Amino acid sequence: MDLKQYVTTVENWPKEGISFKDITTIMDNGPAYKYATDQIVEYAKEVGAEIIVGPEARGFIIGCPVAYALEIGFAPVRKPGKLPREVISADYGLEYGTDTLTMHKDAVKPGQKVLICDDLLATGGTVEATVRLIEQLGGEVVGAAFLIELEELKGRQKISQVPIKALIKY
Ligand code: 5GP
Repeated sequence: MDLKQYVTTVENWPKEGISFKDITTIMDNGPAYKYATDQIVEYAKEVGAEIIVGPEARGFIIGCPVAYALEIGFAPVRKPGKLPREVISADYGLEYGTDTLTMHKDAVKPGQKVLICDDLLATGGTVEATVRLIEQLGGEVVGAAFLIELEELKGRQKISQVPIKALIKY
């Protein structure tokens, strides 16, 4: 299946000059969503994932069905103030300023093999901070899977030690 045909490009959103890749038109198509999920499930098996970690909010949409299919757990990465128990945090740089991501302190067990799932790899800031969180908990990041990679932003260079799977490339 050519998944790219189900991606909608929205020009100048959320800001002037941004060409946003809208993945809701993959999700609202049953066969396309299942096909994308199945591809990532296969990759998760290949790398031996024991738990899926996904950053809010679109990482949940990609990662949760993969965890369900494999009967393994899913651990959320969230913005500060959203998780109810003790968390660890990682900061990462944005174009202007910084942002912070958090995870529950016991979300990943030492030595556990983790696959990170998200919708899109752009500059790599989100996934790089997610790798740091998992490693701080003692987890082993065995891969990162995305629906889309924007290759010219060179996000994969930020996590050059992590194997990456991207279903659609621009
Ligand atoms: P990065 O941290 O790699 O620069 O940006 C990736 C994060 O921002 C992902 O969590 C993703 O959900 C979001 N993101 C950035 N640009 C886009 C886009 O064009 N489309 C979608 N769907 N998400 C984006």
